[in-house]
Amino acid sequence: MLEDLKDILDIQELDMKMLRLLRIKKERQKELLQIEDLRKELRQQLTEKQTEIEDHSKSIQTLEQKIQDLLARSKKLEAQQANVKKADEFNALTQEMTQIEREKISLEQKVSDLVDKRVSEEELHERIKDSLKSSEESSLALEREIQSSIKMINDEGLNLKSQRDSLATKSNPEILAIYEKLLRNKKDRVIVPIENRTCSGCHIVLTAQHENLVRKGENLIFCEHCSRIHYWQESEALEGTAAATRRRRRRTASA
Ligand SMILES: [Zn+2]
Repeated sequence: MLEDLKDILDIQELDMKMLRLLRIKKERQKELLQIEDLRKELRQQLTEKQTEIEDHSKSIQTLEQKIQDLLARSKKLEAQQANVKKADEFNALTQEMTQIEREKISLEQKVSDLVDKRVSEEELHERIKDSLKSSEESSLALEREIQSSIKMINDEGLNLKSQRDSLATKSNPEILAIYEKLLRNKKDRVIVPIENRTCSGCHIVLTAQHENLVRKGENLIFCEHCSRIHYWQESEALEGTAAATRRRRRRTASA
């Protein structure tokens, strides 16, 4: 295998760990957002209910004022009626008072409906308040756990980065640049071994000629199907590298 590729293979292993960490971190951050969204939603509902209750109270107050006005008018008419001498005037006043009484009854009905509505809104309001409280309590532990795991991920990421930085200074800059460009595209291993004359990246069968070129290890050889860089697995040359360990692990797992 091209000697320069060995360093880059080690860098690749660190990059794979880093990608995995970033994926986990993203997941965990998403969980935090979901918890926050749920709380926001409940708070929003709580505010809306509060406003509805206040609106009902205002309407009730207005209607009660109207009822008071009607009562006052009715009393005035009653007093007027006491001094009336003519029958038709007396009857006219009676009619007006009956009309007022009808209006009053209808307003009282509206007030009673609104009071019922307000009671049920208040019950809902209490229920939302309770679920907000319990959601806050139960998510607190979860949030702490997520935050501490994100912190651990960040620490681990810094550690990986410093290992990678020191490897990068020792490796061939041209190959490193090519590798990094491929990695940006694939977000996966881009330096891969040939296994059974097949690219272990895209699993397409390669020609014998291609395999020979890779075996010689004189130049960088790219997969003509997926553009990954190929290397030849010589077990003795690979021994002790991350790729060899990985292969062993895979063999053990499949055995
Ligand atoms: Zn391929």
